[in-house]
This record gives sequence, structure tokens and C-alpha cells, in this order.
Amino acid sequence: MARPGKPRTAMVAGGAGFLGSHLCEMLLDRGNHVLCVDSFITGNEDNLYPVKDHPRFSLLKHDVCEPIRPDRPIDRIHNLACAASPPHYQADPVHTMRTCVLGTLNLLELAERCGARFLQASTSEVYGDPDLHPQEEAYTGSVNCTGPRACYDEGKRAAEAMCFDFLRSGRADIRVARIFNTYGPRMHPHDGRVVSNLIVQALKGEPLTIYGDGSQTRSFCYVADLIDGLCRLMEVDPPPSGPVNLGNPDEFTVLELAELILDMTGSSSKIRFMPLPVDDPRRRRPDIGRARNLLHWQPKTPLRQGLAMTVRHFRRSLPDVKNAGPERRDLATSLGLP
Ligand code: NAD
Ligand code: UDP
Repeated sequence: MARPGKPRTAMVAGGAGFLGSHLCEMLLDRGNHVLCVDSFITGNEDNLYPVKDHPRFSLLKHDVCEPIRPDRPIDRIHNLACAASPPHYQADPVHTMRTCVLGTLNLLELAERCGARFLQASTSEVYGDPDLHPQEEAYTGSVNCTGPRACYDEGKRAAEAMCFDFLRSGRADIRVARIFNTYGPRMHPHDGRVVSNLIVQALKGEPLTIYGDGSQTRSFCYVADLIDGLCRLMEVDPPPSGPVNLGNPDEFTVLELAELILDMTGSSSKIRFMPLPVDDPRRRRPDIGRARNLLHWQPKTPLRQGLAMTVRHFRRSLPDVKNAGPERRDLATSLGLP
């Protein structure tokens, strides 16, 4: 990725989070200097354990809602800064909206000043509760702009709008990834998303919480596959003219996911059905034709295999399960990804 003899400096905003920390690791592996920028609102220092002493890694504690003036030229900006789990992004919805809008604007202006390439971590949430299935990039979505998810969904939509305005006016080279539900090691045990919740509950012998009747669907992508897709999108030339879906098209109901986790953990936990959150999308599955054509990318990790690695991470990292200590494996290498 970095040219031989000339390492690039890559900024990862949100680099202390679940996806950002894996991206920092991958960028270092590929010879880049990495500047991680994070406010630690949902990220944590354990995630940076594998990279914190690397000679090409540095960390800046900063809220991207404030303008940012790094002390060095930047070649690549990856904007992953934003809480991604519904309970976290809804805890301070105005800050979530500020992060999406002001944070993205600050980083886009930095990209313009540095002449850096810019990658925006957008989301399948821009499709809302979709009427079209599977979701292709041309679908403009069905989002409730007044509901509790709007701070995130509409914030990410506004961020995409700014990205494409910067692109149209020639102010920056931008790439937009619409990321579908991604899971894997380093999800926080209290993150609140379905994969981490259900695995932690199963390992602790607690009831598995299913919101609604569990018939809603999601398509779960393993983190190493997703990071590979983000890196390809950043480096592809010429840049795609529109957003690119990144996700695993294998679709499961939430109930199927729970049953798989019970089977894989050997847990005797029961299932507890709870009320469905407001505006919870009924189904979600990416059409990844554009990523296949433009990036020659598709996920390689079946759900059962990715869940096995995620269960192992939680078994090791949960203090009250066993074998405490954060996961340290290089996931991409273990999967033989480029
Ligand atoms: P995460 O919560 O683990 O990571 C987000 C990181 O951003 C955290 O380290 C947090 O401290 C940091 N952050 C948040 N607001 C900030 C601010 N104002 N200034 C500086 N840092 C800030 O979430 P994640 O799952 O790693 O998601 C990363 C990105 O990918 C997010 O932008 C999210 O919207 C996007 N995304 C993730 C998924 C997924 O399934 N994981 C799906 C779609 C989109
Ligand atoms: N969900 C669930 N139990 C949980 C957490 C989530 O049944 O403990 C459901 C949630 O209502 C949604 C799906 O699982 O239908 C995926 O939720 P998540 O928060 O992981 O992602 P998102 O809703 O953003 O796709």
C-alpha cells in the first residue's frame, strides 16, 4: 500500500474503537505511519495494545468536532470517528450529530489542506428500514428523520452529502464505504450490539436478549474482511464515483444468530424476548456487486468461523469467564488476507 521507500502517513480518526484499531494495525503492517485520533468516548486503550509501542504509531487524544491541525502532513484520512452502537450513539444524540457533521467537515477541510485522500466510514443505516431488498447503492433509503436513530442515520447521510460536495467541487479525493453490521474480536463486552451481547450472555450463562420476535434479519461481516475492503477502497484508482457497500451478503434472522451462538458456546442460557426498539430495521442485506466489480472484494469468512474467533476473544477477555487478557492475534494474517 505504501510506496517502497516512501511510507505514507495515514490518519485514523476513531482509531481506538473496534474497527479503527484493526485498521491501524493493518496500515502499520503495510508500512504506513499511523496517526490515531480519538476522543475515547467509546474507544479504549486496550484496543491499541498491539500497536501502542510501534515506532510508526502515534496517538492524539482529540474530539473531531473541534478543528484539527496535526503537526505533520497527512496522505490518507480514514474517518471512523463516531459511536456505532445504538445505545451509545443515542446516549448523547446531539454529540453524535455534531461528530457526523462537524467532525466530518473538519476532517474534509484537513484533507483539502493536505491534499490527502479521504475515506468516510458510512453505514447501511443510510438505508433506514429499507423497502428495497437487498440494498444497492442507488437506493435512497427510508429513514425516519425524527426518531431516536436519526442522530446517527441522518448524521451519516449529511456526512455523505458533504463528502460528495467536496468531490464534485474538486476539493478532495473522497471514497465512501457503506458498512453493514460487522463483528469480531475487540468489540466491547458492553458495546450493546447484538453479536457481542449474545456471546457475552451465553458465556456468562445469562438469558440471551432478543428484541422483538427475532425474525428481523442482519448480514454479519467479519472484521478482517471489512478492513481488507476499506483498504482496497482507499487505494483503488480511479476512485468510485459513488458510495460502495461493504458487508457480507449472507443474511440471518436474529433468532438464528442466537441459536448458532448457543450451539457454538455449549451454553445452557435461555432466550428472553424483549420489546423491539423504535425504528429497528426489519431486514438488511447488502448488494455487493459494486465492491466485487470495482475492488475485486468479497467477504471470505463464514459466520460460524468468524463467530468462533469472536467467542475465543470474549472467553479470553472477560474477567469473569476465564483466561483474562485482551486478544492479541493478527487477524488478517491468520486468515491469509492481503
Ligand atoms: P466504535 O464505537 O468501537 O468506534 C468509534 C471510535 O470513534 C471510538 O474509538 C470513539 O471513541 C471514537 N469517537 C467517537 N466520536 C468521536 C469524536 N467526536 N472525536 C473523536 N473520536 C470519536 O465503533 P466501530 O464499530 O469501530 O465503528 C467505527 C465506524 O464505522 C463508525 O463511524 C461507524 O459509524 C462505522 N460503522 C460501523 C459498523 C459496525 O458494524 N461496526 C457498521 C456501519 C458503520
Ligand atoms: N438486538 C437484539 N438483542 C440485543 C441487541 C440487539 O435482538 O441484545 C437486535 C436489534 O434490535 C437489531 C439487531 O439485533 O434488530 C441488530 O442490532 P445491532 O444493535 O447489533 O445493530 P443495528 O440495529 O444497528 O443493525
